[in-house]
Amino acid sequence: MNQESARLNLLGLTQHQLQSLLAELGEKPFRAKQVMKWLHHRYLDDFQQMTDVSKKLRQYFEDHCVIKEPEVISEKVSIDGTRKWLLKSLSGSAIEMVFIPENDRGTLCVSSQVGCALDCKFCSTGKQGFNSDLIAAEIVGQLRLAQRDLKEVYPDRKRVVTNVVLMGMGEPLLNFDNVIAAVDIMMDDLGYGISKRKVTISTSGVVPGIKQLIETTDASLAISLHAPNDALRNQLVPINKKYPIAELLAACKAYAVNLGDKRTITVEYILLDKVNEQPKHAEQLAELLRGFPCKINLIPFNPFPGSGYRRPGSFAVKAFKERLVSAGYNVTVRTTRGEDIDAACGQLVGAVEDKTRRQAQYKKIAIGTIG
Ligand code: SAH
Ligand code: SF4
Repeated sequence: MNQESARLNLLGLTQHQLQSLLAELGEKPFRAKQVMKWLHHRYLDDFQQMTDVSKKLRQYFEDHCVIKEPEVISEKVSIDGTRKWLLKSLSGSAIEMVFIPENDRGTLCVSSQVGCALDCKFCSTGKQGFNSDLIAAEIVGQLRLAQRDLKEVYPDRKRVVTNVVLMGMGEPLLNFDNVIAAVDIMMDDLGYGISKRKVTISTSGVVPGIKQLIETTDASLAISLHAPNDALRNQLVPINKKYPIAELLAACKAYAVNLGDKRTITVEYILLDKVNEQPKHAEQLAELLRGFPCKINLIPFNPFPGSGYRRPGSFAVKAFKERLVSAGYNVTVRTTRGEDIDAACGQLVGAVEDKTRRQAQYKKIAIGTIG
């Protein structure tokens, strides 16, 4: 480990963590608020410019800390305005981040890991295998970088990134502590002040992680269901063999109850031609989700070379949606954005150097040592 990477990256500290650090250094709690503002409101990266902070504290930061975001390797803009950044993580691997502008909002899709160990059959990130976790500073750093960059592109918008989804590369709940700290900073008014309803953690179904969310956060939750029965889900989303649908839905229900105030879970359902989009699948799904507080988001498959799957035609997508709507569900179909720059869901690849699928993360979760 070089000296730089051994330093504490202040971008990943929650207000609470920063307060504890400063208390150890004999500083008053309000200092943490001042430092948070320098970091996340004023985007400062030079400690010496923290003018309302004591010289002694500035020197401590100088000697022991860094303020470092991922580096931009390249940036592409789609004809529909979607932007994709290829970023260099602090460990040197490439990750991707996508911004999707709409009239009244802007959604930033951030990565939580370099690659992913879970090997869902339709996902190009999964095909790359797992390389490493991102640290909290790298996850928050993506939002920080995007906010600053985008302010120049949209000077008239008061807030450019209104929503954050952890739907880029990686499985957020297999990088629990870093993701939770990052989400905390994103939702903190002294961080980025994004509403809890507008920060969404998407998981393929890491049940112990969902249970642990209950005590940890009140961010929004999305689950990647993708199949209405265990036999089919075992094939498409292999983690289902470990945590089958009934367990997954029970954990989500408990999370939704804990959120209270009529908030629902988003159920993501990819549509793969001739695999999971037939009328019987829609009927099974309607049956399965009966009484479950959710909205359903259908995602027509985004193809990538060698995937072996196809996107169903728009008629089939519409028919699938209609069946669910007539069964009483709130259903949206995700519009494909940024396809010309490979920025659509599941097309995020980055460049994972170590292609081994490390099962260690799985084991860590299974014996309950996360968090
Ligand atoms: N690991 C998390 C979050 C990242 S994936 C998860 O699986 O939920 C974000 C979303 O993109 C998931 O719903 C995932 O299933 C979906 N996805 C993956 N590959 C896709 C593809 N090729 N086309 C469309 N959606 C895809
Ligand atoms: Fe990992 Fe999500 Fe892709 Fe599955 S869909 S391989 S969990 S990133």
